Formats: sequence, structure tokens, C-alpha cells
Amino acid sequence: MHKRKTQQLKNRMRTLKRRIAALGPLMRGSVVELKATCGNPNCRCARGQKHKKHYYSMSQKGKTKVIYLGRAREPIARQYSENYRALLEIVEEMTMINMELLKADAVRKER
Ligand SMILES: [Zn+2]
Repeated sequence: MHKRKTQQLKNRMRTLKRRIAALGPLMRGSVVELKATCGNPNCRCARGQKHKKHYYSMSQKGKTKVIYLGRAREPIARQYSENYRALLEIVEEMTMINMELLKADAVRKER
């Protein structure tokens, strides 16, 4: 690999490290929407227009954990979940870069 290409990859790696540092709170899992009736026979939900309820769902070691979010916490949880997905994308790109650098023997021991 050319030295210039190596330098580009190393620069990109520095950018990705900064992006990881700047990521906000993160959470694995996803916001799920369930439709429910409230029990009031006069409510629109009794006529089929069910209420949307938001929960957060995550699986760990084969078990699914679910928490109720409600309207106020739903966008926050969604953001946390997006941050997690952004982290995974960064990890993926770092993996490709490090494989290229290793292949080109362009890495030094780093901590
Ligand atoms: Zn209702």
C-alpha cells in the first residue's frame, strides 16, 4: 500500500475515534410500538382506533427485557438506540481500516 493511502486510513481512524468519543448515551435494543385499548367503552380505541404505546425492548442471553416508555421518553430511548447503531457502524469501518493497515504492515504497537 502506498504511504499516502496508509496516511489517509490513519487520518480516517482518528476521525472515527473522535466520533466515538462524541457519541451520546447508548443502548442496545429498539423502541417498539404496541396498540392497546384503555378499557373505556366510550373511547375511540373501543371502536378500533387503538392507542399506541411505546416500549423499549432488548434481548440478553435469550431473554427479552421490556420497559414502558410512554410519549415523553420514547424519543430519548430512540436516540440512545440510534447512538448504539452508529457505534456499530463505526466499529465496522474501524475493522476494515485495521485489516487494511495490518495487511500492509503499516501498524505500530499502540495503546
Ligand atoms: Zn382508549
